[in-house]
Amino acid sequence: MLKKTHGSVTSNLWGKTAVSAPDAASFQGERSVDLAIIGGGYTGLSAALAAAEQGAEVTLLEAETVGHGGSGRNVGLVNAGLWLPPEAVNARLGPAAGERLNAALAAAPDMVFDLIERHAMACEPVRAGTLHLAHARNGLKDLENRAAQLAARGAPVRLLDAAETARRTGSDRFHGALYDPRAGTIQPLGYARGLARAAQDAGARLHEKSPVVAVQQVGGQWILRTSGGKLRARSLIVATNAYHQPIDQTPVPKVPIVQYFQIATEPLGDNLAGDILMNGEGCWDTGLIMTSLRRDRAGRLILGGMGGGGRIHEDWARRKLAQLYPRLRGAGIEHTWSGRIAMTGDHLPRIRRFGPNAFAIYGYSGRGIGPGTVFGRAVAHALIEQSETALPVPVIEGHHEPFVRLKTLFYETGARLAHFAAARS
Ligand SMILES: Cc1cc2nc3c(=O)[nH]c(=O)nc-3n(C[C@H](O)[C@H](O)[C@H](O)COP(=O)(O)OP(=O)(O)OC[C@H]3O[C@@H](n4cnc5c(N)ncnc54)[C@H](O)[C@@H]3O)c2cc1C
Repeated sequence: MLKKTHGSVTSNLWGKTAVSAPDAASFQGERSVDLAIIGGGYTGLSAALAAAEQGAEVTLLEAETVGHGGSGRNVGLVNAGLWLPPEAVNARLGPAAGERLNAALAAAPDMVFDLIERHAMACEPVRAGTLHLAHARNGLKDLENRAAQLAARGAPVRLLDAAETARRTGSDRFHGALYDPRAGTIQPLGYARGLARAAQDAGARLHEKSPVVAVQQVGGQWILRTSGGKLRARSLIVATNAYHQPIDQTPVPKVPIVQYFQIATEPLGDNLAGDILMNGEGCWDTGLIMTSLRRDRAGRLILGGMGGGGRIHEDWARRKLAQLYPRLRGAGIEHTWSGRIAMTGDHLPRIRRFGPNAFAIYGYSGRGIGPGTVFGRAVAHALIEQSETALPVPVIEGHHEPFVRLKTLFYETGARLAHFAAARS
């Protein structure tokens, strides 16, 4: 039976197949800590784990449940680097800061898979690499360009021709691919819950159903209020990203939102799945209105595309699946769901100071598994060590994104038009 979920993460595919949620009762009463964290996604959880490992007293407040945001809805591709190729990162940040970010994120899959192994997280880790697929002949130019930039930085990437791409994907619709063996896939909500458990084991205290409604700076301390409690902290991390719920007196900047939806087939079984992504690579393509493809441990095929779900997008996804794999034309679709991505104008994430010992971290622009893990950890260390020199990007003091609503509308309309047009071609 088809299950559609745009709201709660617990009923999407990841919610149905993840390990159980950590025990994290809502926050009540009063407490004083070294570090308060708002938001229980990868960024906040990674920060909580890192700070607790260093002996800090940490409390994390999550409005809904751990992984309620992008961290419980995404595709699960653990990429090395951002969506932008390295030289585009350098062009925006300057060569020194750019290379620093490129290097930090090239190592992000190592950090994610090491954490998974060290804390025995049950999140279906598969380190079989990713395939960036050329959706059309002109996509090959983009891939060649990326391959050259990555190889120049020592990345073990490899361009695959159309025949090798067909052998790996099980579809002859692609013109080639860029294979990156550093990357892999995970069960996204399982990873968020794994980070939560590891943070708790290290001594951090986590509270779900605890939306922070106000934050104030009083006498060198941050005071956070929820409906049932008051938390005092010397330092503060706001990690609410695209799922930010309003907090009085906290100026988290508004960033354009891209919606992204996915459909998952029923488990296919070897007969039907046959040669589809037999090695377990995770994939996305070079299309401007991007498509993603992967399998999960149970053998489902999961296809995603830009857009907020609904009839036009879902019809497109079913047709796309049948186009790539004609034998799947009648396959049952078990789950559909969607999520919000915070997409900065230059596609770079931000660490923004908004007071003494207080940072907001956001804007991974669709690449948040590795970057969220890296950024959360780095900011926690910076706050504890009182040094910003090891942060992956320079701290900014202010940030304004123009035309936020217009851009959000533009992305959704563009995706709808592209998927509508594809239905008629
Ligand atoms: C559909 C989709 C597909 C994606 N695919 C990939 C992918 O394959 N690979 C990849 O690397 N990245 C991917 N991403 C991006 C990635 O999921 C995100 O960048 C990442 O999860 C962001 O983590 P986060 O911790 O910063 O924020 P989130 O996971 O969004 O967490 C923010 C949390 O803050 C909480 N919160 C908000 N306001 C308050 C408040 N006032 N008080 C308390 N708590 C609050 C929210 O409830 C939420 O749980 C995808 C994203 C989406 C939506």
